[in-house]
Amino acid sequence: MSKSTDKIRNFSIIAHIDHGKSTLSDRMLELTQTVENRKMKEQVLDSMELERERGITIKMTPVRMDYKGYILNLIDTPGHIDFSYEVSRSLRAVECAVLLVDATQGVQAQTMTVLQMAREAGLQIIPTLNKIDSPLANIEESKLELIKLLDCKEEDIMLVSGKTGEGVKELLDAIIERVPTPHITTTNNSSRALIFDFEYSSHQGVILYVRVLDGTIVKGDDLIFLQSRERFIIREVGYFRPQKEENKEILEGEIGYIVTGIKEPGLARVGDTVTRFGREMEAFPGYSEPIPLVFASVYPEYQEYFDDLRTALSRLRLSDSSLTYEEEQSGALGRGFRCGFLGMLHLEIITERLRREFGLSLIVTTPSITYQVTTKNGETEQIYTPIHFPEHGDVASVREPWILVTVITPHDYVSPIMELLHKHEGTVLEMEDWIMGRLRMTIEMPLRELMRNFFDEIKSASSGYASVSYEPGDMRPAIVTRMDIYIAEERIAAFSRVIPEYRVTQECEEAVEKLYEILPREMFRIKIQAYVKGRIIASRSITPMKKDVTGHLYGGDITRKMKLREKQKEGKKRMMSEGKVHISHDTFLKMMRSD
Ligand code: GDP
Ligand code: MG
Repeated sequence: MSKSTDKIRNFSIIAHIDHGKSTLSDRMLELTQTVENRKMKEQVLDSMELERERGITIKMTPVRMDYKGYILNLIDTPGHIDFSYEVSRSLRAVECAVLLVDATQGVQAQTMTVLQMAREAGLQIIPTLNKIDSPLANIEESKLELIKLLDCKEEDIMLVSGKTGEGVKELLDAIIERVPTPHITTTNNSSRALIFDFEYSSHQGVILYVRVLDGTIVKGDDLIFLQSRERFIIREVGYFRPQKEENKEILEGEIGYIVTGIKEPGLARVGDTVTRFGREMEAFPGYSEPIPLVFASVYPEYQEYFDDLRTALSRLRLSDSSLTYEEEQSGALGRGFRCGFLGMLHLEIITERLRREFGLSLIVTTPSITYQVTTKNGETEQIYTPIHFPEHGDVASVREPWILVTVITPHDYVSPIMELLHKHEGTVLEMEDWIMGRLRMTIEMPLRELMRNFFDEIKSASSGYASVSYEPGDMRPAIVTRMDIYIAEERIAAFSRVIPEYRVTQECEEAVEKLYEILPREMFRIKIQAYVKGRIIASRSITPMKKDVTGHLYGGDITRKMKLREKQKEGKKRMMSEGKVHISHDTFLKMMRSD
């Protein structure tokens, strides 16, 4: 007897950035006539303005296609490592991964990271070479590389061109043939679905993107989130075509959306399970809280926009549960928020959206990581704002996050890369010869070092030929300390930073020097000092602007001149004691800009 799931195939396309995932998806949409030709624009699934501009996928967009009597559900995934948790969840929502490799480039670092995730999810992998139309395509060698990597047969490898559409039909046929039907357990008249993403709409509330694991999800069902324990009645369900199309139900094994009507942030979470209330099934395994790796403070450039910034952040959080923030106050910058992000790209996306979608002008501080500090009285705290890093005398031990980095590079660049690794405290764990004159390196290093321009440096050290990917590792002991910056005897909280001990002198000198360059001169002398552990490590003074008050008194009485000079001195003293240096926004912006 045929089951309802016999005709369902769920798959995802995984690839290194720019290997052609979005272009291939476009061809699939055309071929299956999911999107009418006249409505076809490039990269249909990347609907955000920022995605289209930058050519990156940020939000994954699922799509349901009909082909030869089968239902093909495709989930496009964001390629960037910042979103690897989301990717890992969406891989659990499918049975197959099309591993797409650009035949002009060969396997790259991110290919390795996502392949690892696909294997962990137990997916059927369909090795596929893309861009075979290109004169630069190196098909034979790329095939050997895939065979070595996957231990597959040559005839398993699909050859396609997302540009010309060649081989795309054969790829869809292979998906139908090779991919197993969704696995279903007995449901006992219940149902459950895995949330792999969600969005927010102001009139419908939170809209979940789900894979129905067991049972059928119907409008009007009473569901519960197993993590947040929140209940809701389903207002609408449907499929992605790729626009949302209402349907009376989402069938077992399928991918669709659920309108919840929920208007509070934090209840829906990627990786959580929803199930029928009163007939609860078990949570789908593997849920984890998003862990912010990078922190930065975000201030409105003008304080009167503080409330707007708060509203905008809460709005963004409704569709992105990995964004965290809390209010903070900084003497010079006023009120703002300390925000946690999944990584540097996530930070960039959020601040860019605040600027574009909400029209806000922002000051964003230098991003930093979290430290786990154990104080002498035995308490352990997560420190994500440098200013809260305890005084040196109170610190018993510190731990910091490490990462595992994969680099794939042509042989020629190994020695400049090794130099770079030395500078960034990286250790090579493994080096493996790779096809096409390349080498794969597995490296461990502190996350803090990755943020010191590591990506850009490795790109330039390898003339752009090396590719890099990383995954979070464990927490390890760190020898770091807090640097404070004082300007005119006042500590400027936003300039405090946590730095490794061995770079104390260098970091302090650089910070002081930079401020010396950018601070405007005043009528009085300004001292710029960098303190570590209560000691001044670097210091410079900006000399006052000279204004000769005696200039108009030529000749004449020397005592009058003396008197005037005395008066002027007093004036300066008064300014020094009352007068704070006004640190302009411009100075902040220049100082925050990464060095
Ligand atoms: P994604 O980052 O994996 O989504 O990659 P895109 O689909 O955005 O493609 C990256 C670049 O490769 C774009 O400039 C595409 O036009 C180009 N591209 C994609 N597929 C092909 C192909 O089959 N042949 C050629 N020659 N170029 C392609
Ligand atoms: Mg894309």
